[in-house]
Amino acid sequence: MKKISHLFTFLLLYFLFHSCIKKEETEPLNQNEIIPIQVTQHSGKTFSTGNKLSKASVYPGGGVMIQAFYWDVPSGGTWWDTVAEKIPSWQQAGIESIWLPPATKGQNGAYSMGYDPTDYFDFGNYNQNGSVETRFGSKTELVTLITTAHNYGIQVFADIVLNHNSGGQSEYNYFTQSNTWTDFSQIASGKFKRSQYDFHPNDLHSNDSGSFGGFPDLCHDKTYVQDWLWNRSDGVGKYYRDVMKFDGWRFDYVKGFEPWVVKEWNSHIGGFSVGEYWDSNVNTLEWWANSANSSVFDFACYYKMHDAFDGNNLSLLKDDMMWKRNPFKAVTFVSNHDTNIIYNKMLAYAYILTHEGYPTIFYRDYEEWLDKNKMNNLIWIHNYKATGTTTILYADNDEYIARRNGYNGNPGLIVYLNNSNNWLERWVPTNWYSTQIKDFTGNSNWYPTTQSGGWVKIQAPPKSYTIWSVNQ
Ligand code: ZN
Ligand code: ZN
Ligand code: ZN
Repeated sequence: MKKISHLFTFLLLYFLFHSCIKKEETEPLNQNEIIPIQVTQHSGKTFSTGNKLSKASVYPGGGVMIQAFYWDVPSGGTWWDTVAEKIPSWQQAGIESIWLPPATKGQNGAYSMGYDPTDYFDFGNYNQNGSVETRFGSKTELVTLITTAHNYGIQVFADIVLNHNSGGQSEYNYFTQSNTWTDFSQIASGKFKRSQYDFHPNDLHSNDSGSFGGFPDLCHDKTYVQDWLWNRSDGVGKYYRDVMKFDGWRFDYVKGFEPWVVKEWNSHIGGFSVGEYWDSNVNTLEWWANSANSSVFDFACYYKMHDAFDGNNLSLLKDDMMWKRNPFKAVTFVSNHDTNIIYNKMLAYAYILTHEGYPTIFYRDYEEWLDKNKMNNLIWIHNYKATGTTTILYADNDEYIARRNGYNGNPGLIVYLNNSNNWLERWVPTNWYSTQIKDFTGNSNWYPTTQSGGWVKIQAPPKSYTIWSVNQ
């Protein structure tokens, strides 16, 4: 009898002790450190590529773009084939669009990366500037690539260089009183021939907002130039859209001309549009995007990520960026063919693939430099969980937590970035109540259940990240 009562007392004490411990553990201890910042205000609708020619994303979180080239990809006319072979695996991974380099013949012919355009209608099908094929291949190979992409539901965006031309013949120029390389009357396609009257300075004016590297600077005010770029049914824009079947446009060096040029192109041609306005000033990016009726690359986000991740100051992620001003007109990226300064790349990809805007993945990051399984996991999370507006929950030097608030029944997510050398954990307020959640990256094996008020404790490993959502 005595033994039994001792056992009873022991069990009672054991139970009381442990329920005490448990109560302490489930109390959100650092609640007062959390001051949520609502970053975006909108209905929460999915990112959309916008206008009449664009296809809405099939994913609740919107699409992911891949930049399907880098500077000096192998020459020899094999690149279109290389990209075409990647299409099935990219579609499998959840990529919805590809951005190709300028596809027509440049001054450097078979060695050109395409940013020195001579003939807008020579897709590697005319013997010109020393070769028939472009660096990337033949017109037939390009058409096969685009057809393959479409068969897999992937959109194809063309790189459009409108600021300057290169590879013309020398002519005496009445406006400069000297010889200039502005005679494009001999181009092989015979379409959109140009002369000194189509470049700056000319009889209309002396310059536009910028020129590039001394190349002849195209004048878009000329009716003749406008006709060939977007008015004529056999002009550049409509040929790219209707014959080549491009779905959208990445406009090169848009600092070099006024935003109405892209606006005019978009109103006549349609399709997805993004401009390379290389500037970290958010006001300028927003001004350009609104004036051009186009998305713009989020260089503000790019430079903030560099300072935040490489400078171990994640609080900078609270600063202004284009995607915060207008997520539907921001294309986010971690590196591209011109610039590659972010060292802490996986944190940066975890950031852009969980936040708003249209994220772009750089070919070499995906295919060569980073862990493809981790990238595919982030793309999956983006496509299926990155929904709704954004709330920043916490940020300090080495720690950043944000919440996507979900949309239309999709639960959204909470992303936890840890740039310290230790495991970190923190209580956070969720939109989920008495609900089991899990980390969809597999970096944490916790399966915590949120409290009735929505609070839950999450963790993240050193120099890594976790991304939490409802366990379903
Ligand atoms: Zn002009
Ligand atoms: Zn210009
Ligand atoms: Zn750096």
